[in-house]
Amino acid sequence: MSFLRLLARNQLALAGLVVMGVVVALALVTPLLPLAPPNVTDTGNRFVPPFSEGALLGTDHLGRDLLSRLMWGTRLSLAVGFAAALIAATIGAAIGIIAGYYGGRTDNVIMRGVDMLMAFPYILLALAIVAALGPGLINALIAVAAVNIPFFARNIRGITVGIAHKEYVDAARLSGMSDLRIILTEILPNVIPVIVIAMSTTVGWMILETAGLSFLGLGSQPPVADLGSMLGEARSALITNPHTSIVPGLMILVIVMAINLLGDGVRDALDPRLKSGALNRPLPATLVAKDREPAPQHQDVILTLDALQTQFHVKDRVYRAVGGVSLSVKPGECLGIIGESGSGKSVTALSVMGLVASPPGLITGGSVHYRGEDLVGAPYRKLRTLRGSEVAYIFQDPQATLHPLYRVGDQLIEAISSHRSIGRDEGRNKAVELLEAVRIPNAQARIDDYPHEMSGGMRQRVGIAMAMANDPEVIIADEPTTALDVTVQAQILSLLDDLRRERGLAIVFITHDFGVVGQLCDRVAVMYAGRIVEEGPTRAILDAPRHPYTARLMACVPELGGGRRRLEAIPGLPPPVNDLPPGCAFAPRCDRARPECRAGEIALEPEGDRALRCLYPVEQPEAAE
Ligand code: ADP
Ligand code: MG
Repeated sequence: MSFLRLLARNQLALAGLVVMGVVVALALVTPLLPLAPPNVTDTGNRFVPPFSEGALLGTDHLGRDLLSRLMWGTRLSLAVGFAAALIAATIGAAIGIIAGYYGGRTDNVIMRGVDMLMAFPYILLALAIVAALGPGLINALIAVAAVNIPFFARNIRGITVGIAHKEYVDAARLSGMSDLRIILTEILPNVIPVIVIAMSTTVGWMILETAGLSFLGLGSQPPVADLGSMLGEARSALITNPHTSIVPGLMILVIVMAINLLGDGVRDALDPRLKSGALNRPLPATLVAKDREPAPQHQDVILTLDALQTQFHVKDRVYRAVGGVSLSVKPGECLGIIGESGSGKSVTALSVMGLVASPPGLITGGSVHYRGEDLVGAPYRKLRTLRGSEVAYIFQDPQATLHPLYRVGDQLIEAISSHRSIGRDEGRNKAVELLEAVRIPNAQARIDDYPHEMSGGMRQRVGIAMAMANDPEVIIADEPTTALDVTVQAQILSLLDDLRRERGLAIVFITHDFGVVGQLCDRVAVMYAGRIVEEGPTRAILDAPRHPYTARLMACVPELGGGRRRLEAIPGLPPPVNDLPPGCAFAPRCDRARPECRAGEIALEPEGDRALRCLYPVEQPEAAE
């Protein structure tokens, strides 16, 4: 099972699992073992030291066999600890689910009760409960379970509130399911992992708390041993006969350590976000390998990428997301980058300004020159002043890039003021100007809208306005129209085209749609598996694709009114970039591939104003003449 495999990868958790397995197994078989009776006193043999004849761990102040008491005591402590955790989790989760699901007054009444319980320091509360019920192991169990209920109730309520109004729960309600069924089939499966995680991280605590109560004489009563009462009885002989307290003390330490390590491992294995490194803090700029070979600088173009290589190093795997990409763009020019999803377009774009998350991202080779200056490995301060003011980005999903709690005007002003100081009125005027520039009607009023009050196309215009806020020289647009419908897409494309002509912007436009490339781009680079396979003027490539991949990609675009051509999907999938084949990466999916294609490196050969990485290109009738 993948859960166990994940758990086993965490060595500390594995150690915890093994230790706990041994302890629990021993506790289970204790009654079958040939042990001395745990409660029979033999005052003639008091305080026998460990490793003596007939008493492996020695005896206590009443001459009882410590090994036997330890085994029986561990059995009892584990049972009480697990029982308390189970009770607290069940009752707490039930309370939390009811409060979170019904909400309103039910929620208020229940949660205020829980708050009251939480207002007491909880060991005091446990003491008070035991004092009221009277000492005894069952009462200690009740007390420990009771003081932990609020913890579970709060946790689970929070999760439930988040789920209770999800669309699939509403759908279940609309289909006429009863509340009980919704809770059991829609809510519970979603909160169970959280309950398991909370339990696995609190069982250790509960064992400690029970031991604490027993230590104070409020838990297990003599002569029955649990780990806490053994410690309590050994207290008077702490200095003279330390083995009597060390034995149960070590056992408590081992159990709690093992449970906590295991609990952390369980949490990590259950939470898919932690696996992919959600807790890693990415650095402000992408890391650069020390042995990178920079490329020479270029003058006439504004932005040049030279043999840029960006990789992701995850554990011992290396993902070559960008494997030596060279591109350049001039002022007023629009360069398209096209390729299937996963071909490395976004990583290329983000590498330009060092925006790839590091770790795990790493730029291992090549250069990015902006106005003749190498940005790869440039100091963070340098990159920060260039980001947004010289090179700006537009991303796919404006819903995700705009802050939901601020008005769009304030977000525009913030984009400006992060690069130069600007007064309130001036900022507002500039923001209105920007919204007008991206053709938002009635900009004066829309400036006070929140992002959710705008439509998708409108939000993307705001995204473009933000990119324009500091009059950048280069705009990198990463699939800015993919989330929009076709009519809005056409408007956004013509807007970008106008801006480029009016202001002489250089645009790098990433897309997976040849239709879009044809409308906007002067040149286009086709990417596959992290490399450019064909590059050239858009018209030339659209008229006569030379690389089989380009040709197949174009065959995927429907043609309005054409009707005669069959739409064809490309069979197979792009290769995983951590395991690229030698030679041409497209060969496995290509019907023109021959053995040479798979043999070794194929260079990107220039042919006039085009370039091609293919040994057996598609022949064009015109080219043959
Ligand atoms: P696209 O062309 O669709 O924009 P991307 O540039 O986002 O593709 O991704 C290129 C490749 O890099 C993909 O194969 C992806 O699996 C890999 N990749 C992206 N981010 C990471 C990451 N954080 N860890 C490992 N691999 C990654
Ligand atoms: Mg992408």
